[in-house]
Amino acid sequence: MSFPKPELQLLIAAPRGFCAGVDRAIKIVELAIERFGPPVYVRHEIVHNRFVVDRLRGLGAVFVKELDEVPDGRPVVFSAHGVPKVVPAAAQARGLDYLDATCPLVSKVHRQAERLIQAGRHILFIGHAGHPEVIGTVGQLPPGAVTLVETSDDAEEVTLPSDRLAYITQTTLSIDDTIGIIEVLRRRFPKIHGPRKEDICYATTNRQAAVKLIAPRSDLLLVIGAPNSSNSQRLVEVARGAKCPSAYLVQRAAEIDWRWFEGVRTVGITAGASAPELLVQEVIAEIRQRYLTRIEEISVTEETTHFKLPRALTA
Ligand code: SF4
Repeated sequence: MSFPKPELQLLIAAPRGFCAGVDRAIKIVELAIERFGPPVYVRHEIVHNRFVVDRLRGLGAVFVKELDEVPDGRPVVFSAHGVPKVVPAAAQARGLDYLDATCPLVSKVHRQAERLIQAGRHILFIGHAGHPEVIGTVGQLPPGAVTLVETSDDAEEVTLPSDRLAYITQTTLSIDDTIGIIEVLRRRFPKIHGPRKEDICYATTNRQAAVKLIAPRSDLLLVIGAPNSSNSQRLVEVARGAKCPSAYLVQRAAEIDWRWFEGVRTVGITAGASAPELLVQEVIAEIRQRYLTRIEEISVTEETTHFKLPRALTA
């Protein structure tokens, strides 16, 4: 005798998953393998997603931590998070063919920071210590030119004599936390210079806005993404902050703990900017094996951003 499946409503956030920067970075590796043949070396995870990395490895990408692991004569790709200036300089000095998959929105922050420093300002960089984007951005600038601010407490405590200060931000932060940090900096340093809008990118902004919309209607929210993906981690925090009783990060369906579903009637689903849609559909399919689902997609906007590929791969 078989029992009818229990009912469950699924609220699927849009936009979710791949952003234009991730899409471009993955295409750069794929095209480099086509152009140069395998192996193509990639410094660091091209984007923070194990599934993406494993697929590219299957095509002929070799992921390394540092440039000195790349043999002479083989091409190397730099990840979407950006790199310190010394990295392309070292590649050039060795005569390596390199392709820079840094997201153009991260590169924009690099150039903006350089202009601020040229104008004689010291930079307060709002971001997370140790994240590759932060390491890359700090490494684009002269030593001592940047002070990292991670929290509102840091912003309260930082002591800098100069009235020529400016702030920039990592692209994948929580919008609400960042606004709080900026408010502290503006109160303490009224002359501080900042971008017209914080540097948090369109993709991070849209994914957080969509989560804010579905989280209050969800008993449980699943974010599909990697534990080392900053924007995915922020989506979990945003869901919890938006009064969703429970929110979890899972890399794929196999990581779901089905006990989370006990007593749950509505489940929200989204994915970080480096998580492929395939993994979202895998999660939905697994849920549908167990539940009779009603699916509603809730969209805050349609994304049309697209970044050009490096000329070296399209010419
Ligand atoms: Fe670029 Fe934003 Fe995507 Fe990061 S999350 S790769 S900054 S578009």
